[in-house]
Amino acid sequence: MRQTLVAGNWKLNGSKESIQTLVKGIADGMSGVGGKAVAVCPPYVYIPMVADLVEGANIGLGAQDVADQESGAFTGEVSAAMLKDVGCQYVIVGHSERRSIYGEKDEDTAAKYVAGQKEGLIPILCVGELLEEREAGDTENVVARQLDAVINLAGVESLADAVIAYEPVWAIGTGKTASPEQAQEVHAFIRGKIAALNEDVAEKVQILYGGSVNGSNAAELFAMEDIDGGLIGGASLTSEAFLAICTA
Ligand code: PEP
Repeated sequence: MRQTLVAGNWKLNGSKESIQTLVKGIADGMSGVGGKAVAVCPPYVYIPMVADLVEGANIGLGAQDVADQESGAFTGEVSAAMLKDVGCQYVIVGHSERRSIYGEKDEDTAAKYVAGQKEGLIPILCVGELLEEREAGDTENVVARQLDAVINLAGVESLADAVIAYEPVWAIGTGKTASPEQAQEVHAFIRGKIAALNEDVAEKVQILYGGSVNGSNAAELFAMEDIDGGLIGGASLTSEAFLAICTA
């Protein structure tokens, strides 16, 4: 039985004050969350502060991106070792906003995944298709290509220590959620693709759904066989909305 994970991706949002309120609110509501694992991914600069705030609260901590390099002359970058040093357990890699706004390629994402795992971070590997790709019937090809970049570089066994987030790009921040059946179909495809290479890894790997999840649609999404939780954007920015998903 895979444990459910709900992770909040705060993106480029927050201030010291708002983040203190948010984390305290989540921590106060953790008793209602049951056996689910919960994590938050603040902007880099707030990670040390959040590490202090979540101490003892059973809330995991992740970053939203990571350098593919270890150290050196890479202005503006933050390494996996630094993230580990300030208390992260997770790192999101290949979010569609990194891919579409900053031109990150499948190979760049794979290199970041490897850099994170090398330091003992759990990569949350985001995959998902654009609306045009779905309409062209290309969803599985796109997701397979994005997964293959990681499998080719790191091996399928590496997925035993990773989380996959299926996030259809057309559902991110748009209020349009994939139906539970649409999401399950792709989750089952992902698990089946991994199972063809290694059944144990396929059984173990957590596959989260992301894309306009909220307190009203989370329960039916999380009830699907291959959906092991969610990666949450907009609804992770208030403790009420985030906890409604965590307790769903
Ligand atoms: C995300 O950015 O990973 C995401 C799923 O965003 P939202 O929940 O706002 O659609």
